[in-house]
Amino acid sequence: MEQTLIIIKPSGIERGLIGQIITRFQQKGLIIAGLKMMNLDEQILRQHYAHLADRPFFPDILKSMMASPVVVICLKGKDAVSVVRTMVGATNSRKAVPGTIRGDFGMSSQENIIHASDSPENGKIETCRFFKPEEIFDYIPLTLKYIYSPDELD
Ligand code: ADP
Repeated sequence: MEQTLIIIKPSGIERGLIGQIITRFQQKGLIIAGLKMMNLDEQILRQHYAHLADRPFFPDILKSMMASPVVVICLKGKDAVSVVRTMVGATNSRKAVPGTIRGDFGMSSQENIIHASDSPENGKIETCRFFKPEEIFDYIPLTLKYIYSPDELD
């Protein structure tokens, strides 16, 4: 199954949204394979946001992401990356459609509550960046046969 890396950002932590965000993913049928709270430092953020290093707002992103601890989650599921990106919504929360996490909870581009991997390849890379191998749990929930049909699990 595909894996994707979620970060509940300081904006989500400070706004008290940890429970509601996790609930949405559980209700959808995604499997929580890893979950922890951690402080991010500049080194890991420079790796994670390397594609934005030249942007003028990059120093602000670093500051924003270090403003409080974050919650990192590894989710697994069929097509987990695209399913979760759809649930997260557009980068600019003001343009994110209602029903998405950013659309329901945010008003900002920078303070946009949550990060989610943007490709299956990055789902793997980012999970390795934030979790040790022993922090990712490979288990099969008993409910899986009610979440997928047998052919979807092949
Ligand atoms: P996404 O998080 O939707 O995948 P990006 O990878 O483009 O989007 O950007 C990473 C993060 O950088 C965003 O989630 C947001 O916090 C911040 N960011 C992106 N664009 C802007 C912007 N124009 N102004 C301020 N912050 C931004």
